Amino acid sequence: MIGILGGTFDPIHYGHLRTALELRQLLGLEEVRLIPCRVPPHREDPAAPAELRLAMVQAACAGEPRLVADDRELRRDGPSYTVDTLADLQRERPRTPLGLILGVDAFLGLPAWHRWEELLERAHLLVVERPGWEPPRAGPLAELLRERRVGEMADLAGRQAGGILPCTVTRLDISATAIRAQVAADRSPRFLLPDSVLALIEAHGCYR
Ligand code: ATP
Repeated sequence: MIGILGGTFDPIHYGHLRTALELRQLLGLEEVRLIPCRVPPHREDPAAPAELRLAMVQAACAGEPRLVADDRELRRDGPSYTVDTLADLQRERPRTPLGLILGVDAFLGLPAWHRWEELLERAHLLVVERPGWEPPRAGPLAELLRERRVGEMADLAGRQAGGILPCTVTRLDISATAIRAQVAADRSPRFLLPDSVLALIEAHGCYR
């Protein structure tokens, strides 16, 4: 299985990177692709330009060969729909199951995503805990979780898509929003993200 972690990565931080690395190791994923979106469909435009967000992801993944910075959404016009990204990856790797990694916050927003039900036809969902967010207890997503939830990775063996695996990783209460706010307030976000990423932020005078 290949893990897919999409996001604005505005900027990428250790919450993303530990999640990617721990899931890769814990679930034995072949690799995790970190895919910055060009234009996020569900939220306001990122503060940093797409090329810089990609450069930050590339810098963060350097030296960790199974964490791969993937620029496919930047090469596509229009809004970056995850469903299109999954279709693209399926064409490239038709036999390899895909695991779409979502923080609980992102999972809760899923029904607003473009053709969201198709995501489960193309990938498994790997839902990770995130401080401050609780899994749904009622409503359509709680229902979906009841229907699709599996207890462990082995339960997904032999299936291309459609399962939901809740995953526990080190809980890091780090968000890109808080990092941008710190830079804007002239406080250092060091130790929340790699120094190589911070160097890019400083070189571009970003988030000030
Ligand atoms: P922002 O604060 O700008 O909303 P963010 O820190 O949430 O940004 P995104 O790029 O929006 O980062 O997140 C991409 C994906 O990574 C989402 O699925 C999100 O749930 C997950 N994620 C982000 N931060 C963490 C974290 N600290 N722990 C676990 N998952 C995270």
